[in-house]
Amino acid sequence: MEILGKNQANHAPLTPVSFLERAGAVYSKRISIVYGRVRYTWEQTRERCRRLASSLRHFNIEKNDVVSVLAPNIPAMYELHFSVPMAGAVLNTINIRLDANTVATILRLSGAKLLFVDYQFFALAQAALNLLCGDSSGSHSAYPLTVIFIDDADQPSTMRPQHVEYEQLVEAGDPTYMPPPVADEWDPISLNYTSGTTSAPKGVVYSHRGAYLSTLSLLLQWEVGNEAVYLWSLPMFHCNGWTFTWGIAARGGTNVCMRNTTAPDIYRAISEHGVTHMCAAPIIFNLLLNPADEHRLKKPVRILTGGAPPPASLLDQIERLGFHITHAYGMTEATGPALVCEWLSEWDRLPSKERSQIKARQGISVLSLADADVVNPETMQSVRHDGHTMGEIILRGSSVMKGYFKDPKATTEAFKGGWFHTGDMAVIHPDGYVEIKDRLKDVIISGGENISSVEVESVLYRHPKIAEVAVVAMPNHHWGESPCAFVSLKKGSKDLSEEELISFCRTKMAGYKLPKKVVFLGELPKTGTGKIRKFQLREWAKDFATH
Ligand code: ADP
Repeated sequence: MEILGKNQANHAPLTPVSFLERAGAVYSKRISIVYGRVRYTWEQTRERCRRLASSLRHFNIEKNDVVSVLAPNIPAMYELHFSVPMAGAVLNTINIRLDANTVATILRLSGAKLLFVDYQFFALAQAALNLLCGDSSGSHSAYPLTVIFIDDADQPSTMRPQHVEYEQLVEAGDPTYMPPPVADEWDPISLNYTSGTTSAPKGVVYSHRGAYLSTLSLLLQWEVGNEAVYLWSLPMFHCNGWTFTWGIAARGGTNVCMRNTTAPDIYRAISEHGVTHMCAAPIIFNLLLNPADEHRLKKPVRILTGGAPPPASLLDQIERLGFHITHAYGMTEATGPALVCEWLSEWDRLPSKERSQIKARQGISVLSLADADVVNPETMQSVRHDGHTMGEIILRGSSVMKGYFKDPKATTEAFKGGWFHTGDMAVIHPDGYVEIKDRLKDVIISGGENISSVEVESVLYRHPKIAEVAVVAMPNHHWGESPCAFVSLKKGSKDLSEEELISFCRTKMAGYKLPKKVVFLGELPKTGTGKIRKFQLREWAKDFATH
């Protein structure tokens, strides 16, 4: 057969920015954004983004320059996901829960030219900029970065800092601005820093192509229809909101933006706006299950959960309230979800407990990946699909990042052998579904046996008094390591002893997996991204080492 070539007609570069032009035309009068009393239609969102993008060009923003933003889930944060790439620049959303030092490190490493700051995080930005200049006087004119102030669109603050304001830029911009076409779909669209729990933050770069394909595959696998009302409970700064920032434009859905994510706020938004979809880490389930706030839903709401292993017992409880859970697994380097526990209708007939156990598995690869496998990290041989043999999850395909920004060494290391190495240990079941057992460094090795901390945690989570639990390795004179459980109890549950908890586990797991020590804490220590600091717990566990 004749091999026909690429040309302009059949090979336009893929970019998720194109979803906005289409939404502005096709869904023009539909509501695009709801925030407090603020409402925009898709026509207005397209115009606002065009205006802002044209204004950005006056700051000498050149192709591939980095534009950072420090903001919660407000309309401006959503708009920047389009305006920044429309100006040819690369969007760098910074986690608002980080400390000033880490924010300063990210600004320095990314070489950002502009920084958009929401009023609530202005002091944090100022502290970071002072650190960058080695200056405590409050003047950071020496640092070559322009700050743009974002006031609250619903309830303007009383702050009047000496900076250009977001709305001024929108107003001054050109409503007819058309972004130059993306020259190469491989060009960068965004830069997201990892949380830096285990090392200095690493800048993960996504391409227009990768973002486009990841967005489409998630919309499909999570069944996001074009009447979707999407609640922004997952921060947009996490992998660009797992790509739903661009995805909701592709479906002409409604973005319900929120500054805070308390349980009453979430339940109120669901009933006021008819929310159909939301993403949430399992930690949010604890909020939603708080007896004082808990609501039975009138209409089912789909939740895509991930970021940490959701215990089966928690999935069961949350589904009883009327939420419909899809479980996904991923990481910054994979543009968010890489595996998804795709549901098969034959599982509908199973008892709810069994269904939640199936759902607690991480699943199969998203459509935008070419392949995902679990291999022996030394030999790179695939493990048997027996649900027992552990190996490392490796990925390849369009959702995998371009690489780490200005860090060729880390990039080569992450891609060795032509795969992205996740550092997560898992098994594959006979049906091909992957189930995570641990992070490579979190596996507990006791007397030569591997103990999955996730497995011990999921048994402990079945105890009705437990709110949160993390199991880590504790040095043990005889076994090398043994499990140590750190536990926080639900509000109002006090009298639970170490012995009671260990004997609760005794009937539910093999003896060598039993926690040898239980430590009760008011709250477990967390990272800026809300993950439990297992590294710190491992340090604390050393104090309980048995000799
Ligand atoms: P960091 O590595 O800095 O914590 P990420 O937020 O990208 O950054 O976290 C990715 C990690 O979170 C994964 O490598 C995995 O260990 C864990 N993770 C994510 N989703 C799940 C899930 N559904 N089940 C178990 N672990 C998960």
